[in-house]
Amino acid sequence: MYTVGMAANDRNNPIRQQSSDSDYSLIEFMKNYPDDAACLDALWRERFAPDGHTADCPRCEKPRRFHRTKTRASYTCDSCGLHIHPMKGTIFQKSTTSLHLWFYAMYLVASTRCGISAKQLERELGVTYKTAHRMMKLIRTDLMKDDGDEPLSGDVEIDETSWGGRPRNKHRTRAEAAAFREAKPTILGMVERGGRLRLRVIPSRRGPALSRTVKANVNPASMIFTDDWQAYKPLRYDFLGHRVINHSRGMYVDGDTHTNTIEGVFGNLKTGMRGAYKKVSPRYLQSYLDEFAWRYNARHEPGAMFSQLLARASRS
Ligand SMILES: [Zn+2]
Repeated sequence: MYTVGMAANDRNNPIRQQSSDSDYSLIEFMKNYPDDAACLDALWRERFAPDGHTADCPRCEKPRRFHRTKTRASYTCDSCGLHIHPMKGTIFQKSTTSLHLWFYAMYLVASTRCGISAKQLERELGVTYKTAHRMMKLIRTDLMKDDGDEPLSGDVEIDETSWGGRPRNKHRTRAEAAAFREAKPTILGMVERGGRLRLRVIPSRRGPALSRTVKANVNPASMIFTDDWQAYKPLRYDFLGHRVINHSRGMYVDGDTHTNTIEGVFGNLKTGMRGAYKKVSPRYLQSYLDEFAWRYNARHEPGAMFSQLLARASRS
């Protein structure tokens, strides 16, 4: 809306309205990263030279001033002439795609609410489908991978769900339906109340894989909340406490004993992946789950998603 007499915005410097749903607009992105050189400079600062000029020179073995090499994607030590290539060892290294397009792809991944498909990336970037697919895969597997470094802690809800569809009518008996479910990979979900989410593919909801995965991802000083599925029973001595809600007796909430948070996550996961869900091969399932968890974990600070990707990309 524009009314006469209203203070005019500077049309050459549009500012994002505070009320806007967007956290990092395309115009802001393009201002920060107008071209390939700006992207290389960002990578250079992120990895080697926070001030843009001074980096530790491995040959001089001390901090030196560097300048941008004229015809190559590198920086040169003013003193000894050594080149440092900011893209070396990153996902950008072996790519013929321009760094600017890579940054734009990361921007799109970070700014879309539910992610972006390779097909959509192909259209946005004007690259081939094969290239878009490869970029998407690298961004997902390298930049959004959940390393599970820091175990979950506090109050942690845990639940599991089978992946890849429900039993259909063709499974006539309960035994057939159960067998169908058993043959599917299982997604184990662990979430801190008000905090971080971790999703893991496990081969089966039966057997030791389930409790082993919980122990590998949740701090022993945590209070865990599960339903009364038998595979959780061995966990009761491994944690500060284990509260069990008797789903099999139709109980869903008893004071603060419930698994509503993780069940809500599964609901959103299935809605969000519905289109892609059945097409995701088991091989890529974990990386899709990592992307979903990455978005969930960044939900309080969505504007930081692009810089998180950039920081991740800068690790070699
Ligand atoms: Zn040097």
